[in-house]
Amino acid sequence: MKRWLLPEKGNFYKANLHLHTTVSDGIWSPEEAKRIYAERGYSILAFTDHEVFVPHNDLTDGNFLALNAHEIAVNEATARGSRFQRTYHLNFYAKSRGTALSPVFSESRIVKPSFTAHVTDEMRKTDARANYSTESVNALIRLGNENGFFVCYNHPVWSLQNYPDYCGLEGLWGIEVFNTSCVVEEMPDTTVPFDDLLRLGRDVFPICSDDAHIEPDLFGGWTVIKAEKLDYDAVIEALLAGNFYSSTGPEIRELYVEDGILTLKTDETRRVRVVSDWRSYSAARSIFPVREGEDFVARFPIRRLLDKYRAETDPGWQDSYFRLEIEGQNGTHAYTRAFRAREFSEFL
Ligand SMILES: [Zn+2]
Ligand SMILES: [Zn+2]
Repeated sequence: MKRWLLPEKGNFYKANLHLHTTVSDGIWSPEEAKRIYAERGYSILAFTDHEVFVPHNDLTDGNFLALNAHEIAVNEATARGSRFQRTYHLNFYAKSRGTALSPVFSESRIVKPSFTAHVTDEMRKTDARANYSTESVNALIRLGNENGFFVCYNHPVWSLQNYPDYCGLEGLWGIEVFNTSCVVEEMPDTTVPFDDLLRLGRDVFPICSDDAHIEPDLFGGWTVIKAEKLDYDAVIEALLAGNFYSSTGPEIRELYVEDGILTLKTDETRRVRVVSDWRSYSAARSIFPVREGEDFVARFPIRRLLDKYRAETDPGWQDSYFRLEIEGQNGTHAYTRAFRAREFSEFL
């Protein structure tokens, strides 16, 4: 029996899920941003301008899909000034192409005059204020989730946030593990908050994005989505199901389990790390892929790991997880989502 962890059917579409244009503080018009990314082989761009939710369905065509979104910032009140200020940055993505307004808008969060130009009277009817607290931010996330949006928690490192800031967040769909603009600003993200949330039982997905505002932010991190076709509904369905991986270099071609063996096919790869919530289990360390034709192939005895989970952590083994981190050339990585042991009960 073969079980595909990235769907067998469909096509891979390269996406940048975090971008700023002249609608807020990016340097490109939405049309220019589309051209720049399309020329580089991207099929999907999420327009996540600060605060204002402005749909860009007019940019969608047969080869390009615009996802409608915006990025909310909830800043800490501090006397030390904005460079020391902790902040929650969250991308809210509309599940439906027809969504015209965001339920989490608040004009009170608009800090730069350039953003004001896009505020409409319709937007002003919503005033979803929040303060810098887990409770208040959770209320915003809930408001989004209940009104046709899903939410990504962005760049914790740049935001000067630590475990106490994010451990209570609920209802997140994704978390950034790599953000190019934060690398440019010498504040690169890590996978630590991602694993922290996974260990707390939250099923969040790892996102690599550009968060592009200016030229140096381009093309550092992306998401590759496997969807049936390039249309809004199919791509959102794939995103919500976790049918994608994120990367700063390596390409994942196939991922499946068959007869208790997990198989990963990639392009050029140095090694594959199996990251889990377990300390030092010998089977859950690095795998060194071998070349087979055009692919590099890594195989991992997943049934052995799951048997071990069950034998040593009953009850609760079902919540254990593993995820794959693929190491490419020059320090690049690709990240799969985390898989919980309970998803593989048929092997036990
Ligand atoms: Zn941000
Ligand atoms: Zn941003």
